[in-house]
Amino acid sequence: MQTVLSGIRPTGNLHLGNYFGAVRSFVEMQNNYNSYFFIADWHSLTTHPTPEDIRRSARTILAEYLACGIDPEKATIYIQSDVPEVLELYLYLNMNAYLGELERVTSFKEKVRKQPDNVNAGLLTYPTLMAADILIHKADKVPVGKDQEQNMEMARLFARRFNRIYNVEFFKEPESFHFSEKAVKVPGLDGSGKMGKSEGNAIYLKDDEATIKKKVMKAVTDAGPTEPNQEKPEPIANLFTMLEIVSSRETYDFFNEQYNTCQVRYGDLKKQLAADINTFCAPIRERINEYLSNTELLDRIARQGAEKAREHAAATLREVRQIIGFHA
Ligand code: AMP
Repeated sequence: MQTVLSGIRPTGNLHLGNYFGAVRSFVEMQNNYNSYFFIADWHSLTTHPTPEDIRRSARTILAEYLACGIDPEKATIYIQSDVPEVLELYLYLNMNAYLGELERVTSFKEKVRKQPDNVNAGLLTYPTLMAADILIHKADKVPVGKDQEQNMEMARLFARRFNRIYNVEFFKEPESFHFSEKAVKVPGLDGSGKMGKSEGNAIYLKDDEATIKKKVMKAVTDAGPTEPNQEKPEPIANLFTMLEIVSSRETYDFFNEQYNTCQVRYGDLKKQLAADINTFCAPIRERINEYLSNTELLDRIARQGAEKAREHAAATLREVRQIIGFHA
């Protein structure tokens, strides 16, 4: 069985975009792959979070992933900082990672531009830490978005370079994995673009019914169609895309027909959409709250995940030490 590994950024709560664009695919993946999901809290140190932030965000994200259906019996879910073996591999990879190539990474250059006062070595070596995360589990596939493509190239380069330096066929080159056609782009409801945390337009899985309703009722619309079968402008098309994602086929067809015959009432459409989003989120929300109220369980799941991940990581590391010439 192939191994798939995915890092999860511990940045806030999951929204519908995260769910339909990524998390739903992870939940499916755990049935078909040897899956590792880790919360990338070491990576988050580049922005200097407080100890409180660190503790809270790791637990929150763990609770949300579990609530979405990640099953610790099927997949190994762990917190990166619980697996110190990764750091040793990070050190070895760093010895053969060169300043020039690290400085050329686009996401690094962007950070240099955006935060000139905090260009730390962790930012520079982000790709080596990511490569260590991947290579320590000898992952075959890594689900990534476009923004991570260059880091994946670096991971492949570091794997090849290690093999060449030590004349071994040890690390395999991890492939980028793009989700199947089932991953959809979830639009924002503020007129254009996609749903995102930084866009300020996200509907979170943990949002309660009233919050969902408030967010949906604020969605941008227009004066309505004036001709039958008129093409939908973006804000309206976005509302329909949301209906397609969370509502039944009948509901979608009903409002689509109303639109095409110029009878659509956006207020009714939004009310229905808010209700359907709530129906979708309610069981997940309930499970999130259950997990969050049981920190003992969360900590136990994290500990068990770390144990499994460490065992596997330690086996890789023993071989790496041997290859390099250290005691295994
Ligand atoms: P982010 O929270 O922005 O780091 O996103 C994490 C992952 O969630 C991304 O790599 C995407 O796969 C997915 N994602 C985020 N927003 C959306 C969206 N609006 N539509 C589809 N997928 C999304």
